[in-house]
Amino acid sequence: MKKLIAGNWKMNGSLAFNEALVRELLAGAAQSAARGSCDVALCVPAPYLAQVSALLSLGSGSDPALALAKSGQRAIDLGSQDVSAQASGAFTGEVSAGMLREFGVRYAIVGHSERRTYHGETDKVVALKAQAALANGITPIVCVGETLAQREAGETEAVVKRQLAAVIHENGHCVSEMVVAYEPVWAIGTGKTASPEQAQQVHAVLRAQLAAASSAAAQRVRILYGGSMNAANAKDLLAQKDIDGGLIGGASLKSADFLAIVAAAL
Ligand code: PEP
Repeated sequence: MKKLIAGNWKMNGSLAFNEALVRELLAGAAQSAARGSCDVALCVPAPYLAQVSALLSLGSGSDPALALAKSGQRAIDLGSQDVSAQASGAFTGEVSAGMLREFGVRYAIVGHSERRTYHGETDKVVALKAQAALANGITPIVCVGETLAQREAGETEAVVKRQLAAVIHENGHCVSEMVVAYEPVWAIGTGKTASPEQAQQVHAVLRAQLAAASSAAAQRVRILYGGSMNAANAKDLLAQKDIDGGLIGGASLKSADFLAIVAAAL
């Protein structure tokens, strides 16, 4: 399965910072994308979608990036960090999947633990957000993961299965068009990474759950690992059988680190 490395900038960036980072990433990622060996995406704050979309369409000026841009293909795809479950109307502050689509968004993170924790997003809301994305041709990156207390209580499997079940329930056979990200909450932004074996164990559980829903889903759905993935630990994590890529927070803000993770996925 072709791996996917997606950066989650979270609430970071500025016009100047973004431009410099994207240009560096385009120069570095064009070679690997041109070989078609790894998909790469950047999930940026909503106000910067237009800027980053334009930069990604432009290419870096280096040959492979330019060739891809001319073919209408991007060396790096654009993603959002959230999407509304609603199509339009009186939902102040929300951004619909249709709006994201107009800016060339290909992926939308849904159900990130920060949204579940700070914005009270329930499993049902996350499932409906995934549905809204899919209905607009956007691939949802559905995040699931347990807290430290849940892991210590032996609830990891039950928690991630409950979170994924809600998405499968709302989306039926369309789940085969999603990406899933296993992000143990205790590993996000903490520097503590799940060991490759710990991560693989949960990924295998998720793969089996997808298989029970649809054999196409088990074969097609990429299951990313997220949680303090960095240049040093990426290779071992990505070598696991059911780890099909990474969702990268902190390390996606430094071009050298992010490109090293992309290289580890090739
Ligand atoms: C994330 O925000 O999805 C994430 C994995 O963050 P970090 O890589 O910083 O742990």
